[in-house]
Amino acid sequence: MHVPFAVSLLAVTLVIAGCVTHPVTGRSQLMIMPEGQANQMAYRAYSQMAKEKPTLPASHQASQRIQRITQRIVRQAVRVDPQAGGWRWESRVFRDDSVNAFAMAGGKVGINTGMLDKLQPSDDELAQVIAHEIAHALSGHTREKMSMAMTQQMGLSVATALGGLDAQTAAMAQQVATVAIDLPFSRRMELEADEVGLLLAARAGYDPHAAISLWRKMQAVGGSGGPEWLSTHPGSANRIQALERAIPAVMPEYRRATGL
Ligand SMILES: [Zn+2]
Repeated sequence: MHVPFAVSLLAVTLVIAGCVTHPVTGRSQLMIMPEGQANQMAYRAYSQMAKEKPTLPASHQASQRIQRITQRIVRQAVRVDPQAGGWRWESRVFRDDSVNAFAMAGGKVGINTGMLDKLQPSDDELAQVIAHEIAHALSGHTREKMSMAMTQQMGLSVATALGGLDAQTAAMAQQVATVAIDLPFSRRMELEADEVGLLLAARAGYDPHAAISLWRKMQAVGGSGGPEWLSTHPGSANRIQALERAIPAVMPEYRRATGL
């Protein structure tokens, strides 16, 4: 039975070639999807979104506020992973009542007006949201989701495509990767983004305690029709406790950044 052997050999080769270590947490991550390709997909999705959804002009006070905070976080993100310095960083405020924010692979950041209007966040709180989202991008979480989906797909399909990755298999893997964009992040990825986001914001001079007040505000506007952010970011007591436990470790970074 040489077929399953060849299949597993290919899968093993891909897995070995595609394993990286997270620059902050040291977690081993499966990364088969190349960064350049994931970024290109994100750039297309972002420009499509910006065409379909109205955004505030770049000169608007809210846009400038988001841009200022994002730039401070990005400077710290690039210190953690210098490759992110080559990303096409951009932030926009979308006219959308739902309480939500995101950062895509390759540095495309978006905040909804709903988040600004309904939460009335301080700069420190807004920095926590942006840093959390940038932490997902910096950690390559979307690429990791795509890579996991691709491996699973290949494991099933390579038996019929022996002789390597033919065009059909490659196209299939690409399709699977596209679908994986919309899958929620795992709990482990969420905790990692909390940890990395807290660190980035502290180094940028934003008060780590704002992560707690942000979650409390998020929960206060909850209920039906509440924050869309909460549907992908369950604000459990565990999460707040984990953040509270993580704050003392990043306080020296915050003090160094602010001189307080
Ligand atoms: Zn998240």
